[in-house]
Amino acid sequence: MVRKTTGTRKTFKKAKAKRHPRSVVQRKNTTLPISVFGNMMKQFNLAASKLNLDSKILDFIKVPRRSTIVNLPVMMDDGSFKMFTGFRVQHSIARGPAKGGIRYHPDVNLDEVQALASWMTWKSAVVNIPFGGGKGGIICDPNKLTKGELERLTRRYVSDMSDLFGSEKDIPAPDVGSGPNVMAWFMDTYSMKMNQSVPHSVTGKPLVLGGSQGRVEATGRGVMFCVREAAKHMGMHLDRCTASVQGFGNVGSIAAKLLHDLGVKITHISDVNGAIHNPKGIDIQKLIDFVIKNKTILGFSGIEEINPSKVLTAKVDILIPAALENQITAKNAKSIKCKIIAEGANGPTTPEADEILDKKGIVVIPDILANAGGVTVSYFEWVQNRIGYFWTEEEVNRRLEEKMVASYKDVQTVADENKVSLRIAAYMLAISRVVEVVQLRGIYA
Ligand code: GLU
Repeated sequence: MVRKTTGTRKTFKKAKAKRHPRSVVQRKNTTLPISVFGNMMKQFNLAASKLNLDSKILDFIKVPRRSTIVNLPVMMDDGSFKMFTGFRVQHSIARGPAKGGIRYHPDVNLDEVQALASWMTWKSAVVNIPFGGGKGGIICDPNKLTKGELERLTRRYVSDMSDLFGSEKDIPAPDVGSGPNVMAWFMDTYSMKMNQSVPHSVTGKPLVLGGSQGRVEATGRGVMFCVREAAKHMGMHLDRCTASVQGFGNVGSIAAKLLHDLGVKITHISDVNGAIHNPKGIDIQKLIDFVIKNKTILGFSGIEEINPSKVLTAKVDILIPAALENQITAKNAKSIKCKIIAEGANGPTTPEADEILDKKGIVVIPDILANAGGVTVSYFEWVQNRIGYFWTEEEVNRRLEEKMVASYKDVQTVADENKVSLRIAAYMLAISRVVEVVQLRGIYA
């Protein structure tokens, strides 16, 4: 579809496209940004139309309840100060405190953070943990900031948003570009403001500060459990399967490692620097060690460098998009040849691509189920902080497996009963759970 645009409008769109390159697709004469929140809304509406629910309640639960933007002055190492913009969106607090990570990335924008916050609401509901949904973001490139600059940026963000946060109000966690170190600074800044130590104000903390065993690996481990359950359901034997992984960060690398341990041959991998291929299978542990040293997958021994787009269209059984949003679009969906897609990332597939994949019979394990292992162990961390007693790694992993397997089965049952995709089924389940709570609480209108 080609939309007519006036000169000015086109220029504006081009300027916008430059700022948010990854949420943009090129069409014939114009560049239209794909709204990530718009994508979430389309998925929501499709699922909601299958449920016989009060449309006023649906109007209430689908929009974010609060979006905050802050402009943060941060002292740089050279003594000058620079302005940064940060966001925190609380999509829902119906089922419990808002919960969700803080993204540090140059392309972060409000539309994206609102979508990510909404997905947290549905994700927490799919795995049935007592949280709502929230998400934060700061426009920055963490790789270009020194440790001190990153610390001051984090502290100023927490300080300016401190009224919003709290262990019973809104609990952040890591996301793309942030990790345990950032959570440690979060916990310290928030605790200083409160004049007491509040470890459960944030999850994904380093172990010695009250973090949970198994949290770092939890998202990737959850992806593995979902793939294992889907393969079982489809009668596929993992030790005869091949897989391709887009993104080799925390989620992609751990999912690849755990699937490799189950006998899956990982033949294609990409990261921000490029993509690699080995038809005989890549040794994942060796690649993880290589990346820790070299900060890139390129240059690893025994591989062929390939075009990153091939990672999505490779002829494999399992595809794991574990990078960013809008990667599988109407443009490349037709060329995708796998049997299972497990969305390690949030929002990697556009609704238009979803339709194409569905027609091709490809099973998509949606983000709100596939990558829910992270928030599930965040919940376990919050619980352990509240009781002040810590579980072993085996205990955490056992509870995570129990939650993920039960949630996968719940979603599969809704899909089978309603003859819908796993994505629509996951939304149907999540929406019904949120609506049930809202009906009981009533709307304070
Ligand atoms: N950022 C992760 C996600 O998108 C984890 C959120 C959390 O643990 O609260 O699911």
